[in-house]
Amino acid sequence: MLGELYLVATPIGNLEDITLRAIKILSQVDIIAAEDTRHTLQLLNHLDIKKPLISYYKETERVKADIIINKLKEGKNIAIVSDAGTPAISDPGEEIVKRCIEENVKIIPIPGACAFINALICSGFSTREFLFIGFLSANKKDRKDKLEEIKKENRTLIFYEAPHKIHATLESMQQVLGDRRVVLAKELTKIHEEYIRGNISEILEKEQEIKGEIVILVQGAEKSNDEKDFLNSMSLEEHYKYYLNQNMEKKEIIKKIAKDRNTNKNEIYQYFINY
Ligand code: SAM
Repeated sequence: MLGELYLVATPIGNLEDITLRAIKILSQVDIIAAEDTRHTLQLLNHLDIKKPLISYYKETERVKADIIINKLKEGKNIAIVSDAGTPAISDPGEEIVKRCIEENVKIIPIPGACAFINALICSGFSTREFLFIGFLSANKKDRKDKLEEIKKENRTLIFYEAPHKIHATLESMQQVLGDRRVVLAKELTKIHEEYIRGNISEILEKEQEIKGEIVILVQGAEKSNDEKDFLNSMSLEEHYKYYLNQNMEKKEIIKKIAKDRNTNKNEIYQYFINY
């Protein structure tokens, strides 16, 4: 019988952020495949779990996937963990999942911490729709090309970044996206957790050296005049339905219509009072 593959989320800082189910699964599987076995060993020691570990990191994902698949075929149950958070989110995992689907191996997620979701919910930006980009390229030109591609995106943009590259990334963002509102969600779940909010220029000026793990959230682009003209060419009812079709609630729709039409929210509210 084939074994099962578990994708187990682990803490992103605070060791208490591990679920009871994650502890149970890590205790029950035959093997744990870890991004960095030394790092995972610390967590397992903390949880008093002893299991055979194999390393599974980005650069060896394909080769290691073969080894893992063979073990699953032998009937072994395997848990994949990354250094922090949810496997396969800017971390190894995608390759083995694809292989398991090909080989009909059952894949089971064990939910838990994920840095960008927690950064987003505390950002104050729209959580209704967002675009997770993860890491931008370290190459300046490639980084700017990617930013150009998403420049007109109205949804909240979410990036991961290594601490020593944050300044360069914010500079590229300012050059391509303009001086947008951003939130730096720093050291989530740790003692020095902090949210730095402001325009990119303010943050670049204020924060000379930004240290620690950071998620960068950028407010989506304002609607272009073309889009505004398109929305304003509709009747109020059509405009309302346009947002209703995006699953928005009445209060938010009214706010958006008022903003698009540059008019008072109460006037729109009165119009739709019986809607
Ligand atoms: N798989 C992880 C997840 O579920 O969030 C992400 C791993 S990715 C290699 C590491 C990046 O996630 C960091 O560079 C940082 O941008 C973000 N990150 C991870 N832990 C964080 C934390 N405690 N606070 C802020 N950002 C964090």
